[in-house]
Amino acid sequence: MSARLLLGEPVAEKVRQRIGGLVTQLAAEHITPKVAVIVATDNEATKWYVGSIARAAAKLSVACEVFDLGEATEEFIAETIKTLNADELIHGIILQTPLPQGVDVSSLVKLIDPAKDIDGANPVSLGRLSVGQDAFAPATARSVIEILEHYRIALSGKHVAVIGRSAVVGKPLAQLLLQRDATVTICHSRTVNLAEHTRRAAVCVVAAGQPHLLASNEVTAHSVVIDVGTHVTESGELTGDVQSDSVQPLVAALSPVPGGVGTVTTALLLLHTVQAATNFLERSRREEWQMSAGR
Ligand code: NAP
Repeated sequence: MSARLLLGEPVAEKVRQRIGGLVTQLAAEHITPKVAVIVATDNEATKWYVGSIARAAAKLSVACEVFDLGEATEEFIAETIKTLNADELIHGIILQTPLPQGVDVSSLVKLIDPAKDIDGANPVSLGRLSVGQDAFAPATARSVIEILEHYRIALSGKHVAVIGRSAVVGKPLAQLLLQRDATVTICHSRTVNLAEHTRRAAVCVVAAGQPHLLASNEVTAHSVVIDVGTHVTESGELTGDVQSDSVQPLVAALSPVPGGVGTVTTALLLLHTVQAATNFLERSRREEWQMSAGR
């Protein structure tokens, strides 16, 4: 028997349809949602990824402007973020890593206006998620949830093991799972006896950045496994954090690499942009109403 494959493409298509509906509503109000992507590297893989966001945006009538700053200083990147925060025509901001050596990413992400922080990079966004307030989650973390919900994998009352505690995947994902009443165990590099946690879990999400980490002895026939890892092999193939050859025949369901989480992420970045534009419209209307009511 082989696992049911939880593919990303049908999930991404559903997200694109939601974007289409919201873009039409915004167009009626003469608003074009727009995302700004700040790049400060010559890294080819990064440039390709940013290009793929721009191409996906164009297909969905979302404007996308890439700010290629080259080997910019931290001060210059900070000024760019502040300018974009103040620009009413920009609804979402992505600060693409890697950044030039010596530039402190953590100082810069704090500058992104949370209302425009469509990839949940500002710690304020993670803080808000943690206390159940409105915030954009990092698109990768939300992709995992969208996949689980699309394939109707129950989360309420279920034990979910998340391998990885980064601020971009593991921690925000744990918050999104808690919001859905899952019982969450966060595992990391110091976790003793990983298999004890992963075998007990109904759902196991692997975001460790370690190729082929999750092995067949760490899963059961009931496991639903979501592979978040992305690694390019020497032969140029994309692979994940799961030993898929040995795990796939054993488990109940698997979201594979390639074809899983990564497929949904770009669509979600654009959905967040469109949602940020919708929030902007609602805020403007509220402010207008308050002004006209003299409040
Ligand atoms: P990261 O910042 O390197 O964090 C990795 C986490 O995994 C850390 O918390 C680390 O523990 C834990 N870990 C490492 N080795 C482990 C082990 N042997 N056992 C248990 N836990 C271990 O990585 P990230 O940014 O979260 O990314 C994780 C993976 O997702 C990467 O492969 C990345 O390429 C991929 N990713 C995919 C997408 C997408 O759209 N598909 C987007 C972003 C990231 P410590 O905290 O103890 O060090």
